[in-house]
This record gives sequence, C-alpha cells and structure tokens, in this order.
Amino acid sequence: MRPPSRDLVRRFQRRLLAWYAHHRRDLPWRHTRQPYRVLVSEVMLQQTQVDRVIPKYREFLRRYPTIHHLARARVEAVRRLWYPLGYNIRPVRLHAIARETVARYGGRLPDDAAALRRLPGIGRYTAGAVLSFAYGRDAAVLDTNVRRVLGRVFLGPRRLARVRGERAFWDLAEVLVPRGRAYDFNQALMDFGATWCTPRKPKCPRCPMRGFCATVAAF
Ligand code: SF4
Repeated sequence: MRPPSRDLVRRFQRRLLAWYAHHRRDLPWRHTRQPYRVLVSEVMLQQTQVDRVIPKYREFLRRYPTIHHLARARVEAVRRLWYPLGYNIRPVRLHAIARETVARYGGRLPDDAAALRRLPGIGRYTAGAVLSFAYGRDAAVLDTNVRRVLGRVFLGPRRLARVRGERAFWDLAEVLVPRGRAYDFNQALMDFGATWCTPRKPKCPRCPMRGFCATVAAF
C-alpha cells in the first residue's frame, strides 16, 4: 500500500489532535504514566467496554497498587478479583508478567518493544501502548477502532476490500504518529474510533476529516 502524502499526514494529525482537545474522554488511566498502571488498563480494556473497566481498574489498583504487590499475590486471588470482566486468561497473564518483570527487571517494565513482547501475552498493540502511554515513545497502536478509522480515512471501501492482514495498517499507523506527540495522538485515535467514527453511525456530516476522508469521497 502506498503511504499517504506528507501533506495528508499532517492534515490528519492536526485535525485529530484539535478534535481530541475538545472531545477527549476523562479516563482514570489517563491520570498516570506509571507503566504498571498503564499495563493494567490496557490488559483490562482488551475485549471489555470502558464503562465496565473503570470500577474494576480502581478496585484492582487498590488491592495491587504496584507490580510488586501483584507479583506476590496468589494467582487464584487475582483471578477472583478479575472474574466479572470475563476472558479469564488475562489476569493469569498479567500476574505472570508481574512475576517475570520483578524477577528479571527488578519490577520495572522494559521500555523497548522487543523485551516487552517477550513477556507473557504482550503483543504488538500492548507493547505500543506501554511505550507511548508510559514512556512517551513514538510508538504506534492498532486496535479494532484504530484500524477502522485508518481504513475509512486513507483507503475507502474499494481499497479496503483488497487489503489482507494487519501489516499495511501497522505501516500506516507508524507513518502517522507525530514525533513527540504519540501519547495524545494514540489516545485521540482510540477516542475518535470509539466515539466518533463508530462502526454503525459515524458522524460524517460534522467530521473534521470529511474533506479528505476516502470513504466520504467514495459515496
Ligand atoms: S468522515 Fe465519516 S468515515 Fe470519515 S473519518 Fe469522519 S466519521 Fe469516519
């Protein structure tokens, strides 16, 4: 897939960040840059709605305020606390990450992608989230919402139908990250996908991307 022009990249970055300044959600994990807390929120948000995650995130951090507390806990207790969120391999993996991080890194999550991805259950998305949200690195994130936004804005329905796999989207996501602004940009992309460019009712008539969105242009 050909990368978008520099001009288009800049317009998208500017408009997304301006949109975020007015529409950002106030979420508890946006009040911290602590890697452990960022990791807990990201693992909880996999497969689970934000509204359900918020109270459990707070409860979890009251019980296990640091990665050392979590590493010392019994995995069954962690599972029990997590239980209502479902998809219960996640607390087991999080607990394993805590133990390995304490054992190998003295309790500090690594700040490079390769080392993060060697930890149990950490894939490219979670590594990008920890790097950009906790360490301020220019790392990309790609989840379902981000993929939809990028597909709509930069590809449109016909080109989108020809794309196979995730690689093209990761390449695109990486090109788009503005240097030094990955934190806000990635949070903005996720909010934009979750609340504005939604699967069923995207707000196209009022959208700041309307002038160059490939999906709008196709209809
Ligand atoms: S114009 Fe519509 S499809 Fe395009 S980014 Fe905006 S909300 Fe999404």
